[in-house]
Amino acid sequence: MSGLDVNLVLRSTRVVTPEGTRPAAVAVAGGTIDAVLPYDADVPEGARPEDFGDDVLLPGLVDTHVHVNDPGRTEWEGFWTATRAAAAGGITTLLDMPLNSLPPTTTVDHLRTKQRVAAPKAHVDTGFWGGAIPSNVKDLRPLYEAGVFGFKCFLSPSGVEEFPELDQEQLARSMAEIAGFGGLLIVHAEDPHHLADAPQRPGPAYADFLASRPRDAENTAIEGLIAHAKRLNARVHVLHLSSSDALPLIAAAKREGVRVTVESCPHFLTLTAEEVPDGATEFKCCPPIREAANQDALWAGLADGTIDCIVSDHSPCTTDLKTPDFASAWGGISSLQLGLPAIWTEARRRGHSLDDVARWMSAAPAELAGLTRKGAIEAGRDADFAVLAPEATFTVDPAELFHRNQVTAYAGKTLHGVVRSSWLRGVRIASDGVLAEPTGRLLERDR
Ligand SMILES: [Zn+2]
Repeated sequence: MSGLDVNLVLRSTRVVTPEGTRPAAVAVAGGTIDAVLPYDADVPEGARPEDFGDDVLLPGLVDTHVHVNDPGRTEWEGFWTATRAAAAGGITTLLDMPLNSLPPTTTVDHLRTKQRVAAPKAHVDTGFWGGAIPSNVKDLRPLYEAGVFGFKCFLSPSGVEEFPELDQEQLARSMAEIAGFGGLLIVHAEDPHHLADAPQRPGPAYADFLASRPRDAENTAIEGLIAHAKRLNARVHVLHLSSSDALPLIAAAKREGVRVTVESCPHFLTLTAEEVPDGATEFKCCPPIREAANQDALWAGLADGTIDCIVSDHSPCTTDLKTPDFASAWGGISSLQLGLPAIWTEARRRGHSLDDVARWMSAAPAELAGLTRKGAIEAGRDADFAVLAPEATFTVDPAELFHRNQVTAYAGKTLHGVVRSSWLRGVRIASDGVLAEPTGRLLERDR
């Protein structure tokens, strides 16, 4: 298929392909999947065989929501540490969010700065979202032409002053501009008026924090977003959905043909408000982790296709910013290395298969970003894989995590699914927690 000789053949009794899971041998040539063959196919002369036995061969995960914060807030995270955590967790492609780095990715110059910083440190393939802020409408098209995958905006304060939110008029203007060149707008959807009206009680009680970020803030923002998208025939994506109350209106919009997609995150799908200890701000994120019944409804939304994908929203900070006061602690949950086992643990309990997990965490995010070489084990795609022992368990020890600040809401949890190795374009980049030198490439939107 590639015209190159097959140099590697990966076998497993459980290869997760778009047509289902089956025993297969995956032939790789020049970093590309050449063919998916029967398990006992002959290995061509000169090719190296690898047999994973009953360990599952998954397509490498695609995480389209990662805050790397590099350059500028490198004490929070960085390309070196984040991409190592990704590789160790079975993620072979990540897209970096445009904020919390200095500069934010809001101009072509800023994008070039970030690419320069990322290039020598990337252990996995790495691309960039642009940012849409009130002052940069004129920069959106040049950024798109320079290779960003789309644009992120906030409707409520982002938490950093260099990345202001859009009001409704600015949202409409940016959305129209982006739709004009066929781009994608991805949105942190919490309505600022509902947040302002919610009770604000600082302190260590999780219930008070939850009350300060009500479901209505999400529901209203999403309703407005859908109305704009419908009027402008624009493509929009709802980031980190937490409120399950918004699912019916999203499902109705999809049925009507509105071009809206939705993601949720491991923390909303595996952790509950009921279990958050007071003062445990490693569980703080916005929108917040909600009640167990809400989580059940989110899983139903995944099962029926209302929610398209699951991505980490890995958003770390230094430990000193995780003060015990939920109002002032920095919001963000670190889970880059743990998303796959966290989701698989809950998915299997709820009767879902690894085919579902691969769709939610690899195929769907790749499709969202237009990454046509990623997201599936089939001929012509990049030879990116995660090898998973799905029945094996481990207990999360923060000291074994590769992201910079070893704070995580998953500490002490016992999870199913050990990532044995990760492969990027036919090269093993992580093996039982040992990382290779960086071979990740910088990705630009397919043009
Ligand atoms: Zn985020």
